Amino acid sequence: MTLLDVDDLTVRYDTEDGPLHSVNGVSFTIDDGVNYALSGESASGKSTIAKAILGLLPEHAVVESGDIAFEGRDIRAMTPGERQDLRWEEIAFIPQTAIDALDPTLTVGGQIRQAVQTHRTVSEESARRRARELFETVGLNPERTEDYPHQFSDGMRQRVVIAMALALDPKLIIADEPTTGLDVVVQDEIIDNILKIQEETDSSLLLITHDLSVIAETCEEMSVLYGGTVMEQGRIQNLLLNPSNPYTMGLRNAYPSLGGDSEGALVSVPGEPPSLESKPTGCVFESRCPFATDACSESVPDLDELPYRNHRVACHHVEQSKRMRSEAADPAT
Ligand code: ATP
Ligand code: MG
Repeated sequence: MTLLDVDDLTVRYDTEDGPLHSVNGVSFTIDDGVNYALSGESASGKSTIAKAILGLLPEHAVVESGDIAFEGRDIRAMTPGERQDLRWEEIAFIPQTAIDALDPTLTVGGQIRQAVQTHRTVSEESARRRARELFETVGLNPERTEDYPHQFSDGMRQRVVIAMALALDPKLIIADEPTTGLDVVVQDEIIDNILKIQEETDSSLLLITHDLSVIAETCEEMSVLYGGTVMEQGRIQNLLLNPSNPYTMGLRNAYPSLGGDSEGALVSVPGEPPSLESKPTGCVFESRCPFATDACSESVPDLDELPYRNHRVACHHVEQSKRMRSEAADPAT
C-alpha cells in the first residue's frame, strides 16, 4: 500500500533578489514498510520537499503545483489543525537543526509529556513513564528527562529530538540529515537507534541525507535530486550498481567502497550548482555533465522508466549509460 505519494511538486521561494525555483516537478512514492532516501548535494531541494510535505514552508514559499497524499488523504487540503495532528500522530519529523525543534524554556521531558498529553488521553504519570522509556530507547539516561535542552551536547540533543518525534508511534518518520555535524561514532549510534525504533514501531522512514553509505545501510529505495529535480529514482541496488544518470554516476564514484568508510561523505562532482533564478529549460545538470550535447540544453529530460522494474532516469542519453558508466569510472580511457 502507498503511504506517501508526492506528485509533481513545484516550490518557489520569493526572495528579495527574485524568485528561486527550488523544487521543480518532483514525484515519488513511499510504500508501506519501505525506507526511502532523498539524496543530492546541498541546495538540491531536499529540506524544501520535507517541509512541503509537512506544511512547514515559510510564508514566502509558493507551492506552484503538487499533490501530496498520505494514505490517500490530501495533505494540502487539510486545515492547519488537521495537519498539526497528522504531524504528531502519523508523521514524525526530525528536522535538520535539532535545536530548532526544542523549546529552551521547558525541560526535555516536559516537552515530550506535553506532546503526548496533547494528542492522547493519558495521565501525567504515564506520560512521564513514556518520556523515560523513549529516553532509554534512544540511549539517553532516563534520569535526565528533567534537564533543559542547553544541558545536553549536540549529539544528545539530536537523540532528544528523535525521542520526541517518536512519542506517538508515527507511521512515517521524516529525518532530515539526522546525523550531519555529529562525530562518526555518534552518527552510527543515531542511525542504529532510528532503525531499531523504526523496526519496533513498524514505521517507514524518509531519510534525507547526502551520505550514500548511510543510505546503502538503511534504505531500500531512493530519489537522487539535483537542482530541485529528480535525476534518478528506484531501488538502491539498481541505482548504485547501474547508475544511469551521469550525476548519479558522479555521486556513486565518490564512494569507492560504499562500506563504513566515512571519507568521501561529502560528495563532489566538479562544478557549481545550478542557478535557480529561472525555471530550467534544459537538463539542470547540463553545465556540469561531461556527456552533455545540444539536446541537453534544449529540453528538460523526462523521468522515464527503464525496462527493469522500478528504476526511472531523467537523461537525454540514457541509452548510452553503459558507456558513460565506464568512462565516468575511469576518465582516462
Ligand atoms: P542542504 O543539503 O544544504 O540542507 P537542501 O537540499 O535541503 O540543502 P533546501 O534547503 O531545500 O536544500 O534549499 C533548496 C534551495 O532553496 C536553495 O537554493 C536554498 O538556498 C533555497 N532556500 C531554502 N530555504 C529557503 C528560504 N526559507 N528562503 C529562500 N530560499 C530558500
Ligand atoms: Mg536541507
